[in-house]
Amino acid sequence: MADEVNPFESLQEQVDDAAAHVDVDPGVIERLKHPERVLETNLAVEMDDGALEVFHAYRSQFNGVRGPYKGGIRYHPQVTRDEVKALSGWMAVKCAVADIPYGGGKGGIEVDPDAYSASELERITRSFATELQPFVGEDRDIPAPDVNTGQREMNWIKDTYETLENTTEPGVVTGKAVESGGSEGRVEATGRSVMLTAREAFDALGKDIEGATVAVQGYGNVGSIAARLLEDIGARVVAVSDSSGAPYDPEGLDARAAKRTKDETGNVVDLDSPQTLTNDELLTLDVDLLVPAALENAIDETLAHEVSADIVVEGANGPLTPEADGVLTGQNVHVFPDVLANAGGVTVSYFEWVQNRQRFYWSEQRVNDELETVIVDAFDALREVFEERDVPNRRVAAYVLAIERIARSAEASGVWP
Ligand code: GLU
Repeated sequence: MADEVNPFESLQEQVDDAAAHVDVDPGVIERLKHPERVLETNLAVEMDDGALEVFHAYRSQFNGVRGPYKGGIRYHPQVTRDEVKALSGWMAVKCAVADIPYGGGKGGIEVDPDAYSASELERITRSFATELQPFVGEDRDIPAPDVNTGQREMNWIKDTYETLENTTEPGVVTGKAVESGGSEGRVEATGRSVMLTAREAFDALGKDIEGATVAVQGYGNVGSIAARLLEDIGARVVAVSDSSGAPYDPEGLDARAAKRTKDETGNVVDLDSPQTLTNDELLTLDVDLLVPAALENAIDETLAHEVSADIVVEGANGPLTPEADGVLTGQNVHVFPDVLANAGGVTVSYFEWVQNRQRFYWSEQRVNDELETVIVDAFDALREVFEERDVPNRRVAAYVLAIERIARSAEASGVWP
């Protein structure tokens, strides 16, 4: 993993790469290289033993021209201000590619959640929610889950906000449990859009997904669900991984059994399999489809030279460094970018928010059908830009599509003051 690559510089480079292909006011491009504002806060939280501990936390609000800021909150010991800024920019691009009415946002707390008890995590979360209260709201900024956060944390944020505001406003945060105002299908949504993107990609390239070999890096919410859904449409998942290593069987693994193993032992490598690989070995396997679904910068320039997959569908945000992206373009690897492939999460967050506001809840079938429409439409729009404009790869096509959509909204709104 290329730790030295600053994701915020990657975002700025990606915007510049696309800017060369769009006819947009340079001021709008410059705007899209910086967040509108960043909240940086230090949370002093009481631990179970009575001691106070301080946690650094951030919320970046990237761009609000298309609607409220939107994006997850991650808990990770390596969270930085620049990482959160980059992730918020990627959210703005993602929401524009999916054509849902949001700008981008992202938050993070520098914390290793495994090192704290549930009650400590609750106090940390409620403390952050209290700091966020003046900045968030159904029409302002809507957090959601991200790495190491889920329904439990979102329920706490909703409860803290509603208590402080003395109201009910479930749409202040998405990714909640169904009984706390969440949506059916939200947990699966990101993995589902990875599967849908892969299905459309194989179709567009004239390849058969039935029997196609797949390697999935990262076996959290995104990777494990993508693997299962890809298996359900006939693909053969040959390798999966988490930080413990990568079980590998050229004949195919059982994605559900891998998930059960991970749930039971905490390590996917405990799955019974003929071989065990490292994460880097998995990423360079000669497979039809590679799904990096862990963290950013998983594939750097050096590793990219060894990638042998035909198609890469990005489940994680920013798994390729810009240099790696260039190498894969040169090697004719078809890369379907994060801002399309993992847009299912935020899309079903949008459906959750719509349901919260209407106080009218949909069936899981309706959620999945509407999600499919959004992802297939986004795929087709991106494909049109890729095929009809002189752009080097699909990531640049996605940024061109997003920048043009954001610029059109900015132009329609005018400048104030
Ligand atoms: N954290 C997810 C993402 O990176 C979901 C964000 C959301 O639902 O707002 O897309």
